[in-house]
Amino acid sequence: MVEQATAFKVKKVEKSRVNQLDPENIVFGTLFTDHMLVADCIDGVWQTPEILPYGDIAYNPALASLHYGQSIFEGMKAFRNVADEVVMFRPEENFKRFNISAERMCMTPVPEDIFLGGLNEVLKLDAAWVPKGEDNSLYLRPFMFASDVYLGVRPSYNYRFMIIMSPAGKYYSEPPKVKIETEFIRAAAGGVGYAKCAGNYAASLYPAKLAQEQGYTQLLWTDAETHTKFEESGTMNVFFVKDGKLITPKTSTTILKGITRDSLITIAKDLGYEVFEQDVYVKDIVDGIRDGSVTEVFGAGTAVVVSPFSGIGFEGEDIALPAINSSSVSSILKENLDGIRKGQIADTHKWVYKV
Ligand SMILES: *Cc1c(COP(=O)(O)O)cnc(C)c1O
Repeated sequence: MVEQATAFKVKKVEKSRVNQLDPENIVFGTLFTDHMLVADCIDGVWQTPEILPYGDIAYNPALASLHYGQSIFEGMKAFRNVADEVVMFRPEENFKRFNISAERMCMTPVPEDIFLGGLNEVLKLDAAWVPKGEDNSLYLRPFMFASDVYLGVRPSYNYRFMIIMSPAGKYYSEPPKVKIETEFIRAAAGGVGYAKCAGNYAASLYPAKLAQEQGYTQLLWTDAETHTKFEESGTMNVFFVKDGKLITPKTSTTILKGITRDSLITIAKDLGYEVFEQDVYVKDIVDGIRDGSVTEVFGAGTAVVVSPFSGIGFEGEDIALPAINSSSVSSILKENLDGIRKGQIADTHKWVYKV
């Protein structure tokens, strides 16, 4: 899978900081590994990628990405499997999605040997940072931004691609309570909802803050036109269990195509569940929770893996969901996904990549 055609210029740290990592006490996104990858694209030509000690980067105040937001990212994880090897999960899918985001933002695509080869190189170098322990992983953040020094509005000629890595533990300490959002929108048809671009997250902060002030952890977005159909949650796709069947909104240009979503659909089908990718109406789900036919609502994404919701808020009312146990569909799917990643369950779809 990973071509290694590219040579990487490597400058190693003099002394590792890995002793700062306490696998029992990981705070997401605060500690970074010893090294980072930097690759510049100058006038359409990718320069030799460098692996450098993690640290600050200098920027010019007229840096294009700061003003007009040409900036995209990916979120992925490396794990330690039962044989203590470092593995990544479906990294080609992140690579493909990254360049789909790049195309939408009018940015130069990143070559495979820099994206996947680069991940492989930094991971080999910082393998000691991949923490052991259930629910622990090393979060990988490839990203790219416009690096022209220019204030005119046009696509940048120059880009910087980077990879940074940060140890991660469990995302939510307790099941989130989510609010069905019927006023603000995340994405509209023809917009950029399917791209992992920086601006999508900036735009979501204000409605999320209002929801948090009302006591919710997260938002459940509905469609921009009618607010009657579910789309997805903050950085997760969303699934519903109704009469034992798995239902998730079908993807469109307004929904980020999650790799976790795709993996769970495949696993569920392998396990014999009926899976429906379709329009999911708010009313049907709210009625279903009330009459007991909808038993689970959960988010799915790299950061949270599988995250069952404790309840949902709709039009000012809180509707509780039944508690999850080990025979809940979300628990079974998570166990299978974790099992494949950790090498305890056969990887029949060739999803696991050994670094
Ligand atoms: C990243 C992301 C997801 C989940 O995608 P995964 O590939 O499963 O991590 C879902 N929705 C949004 C908005 C995201 O940014």
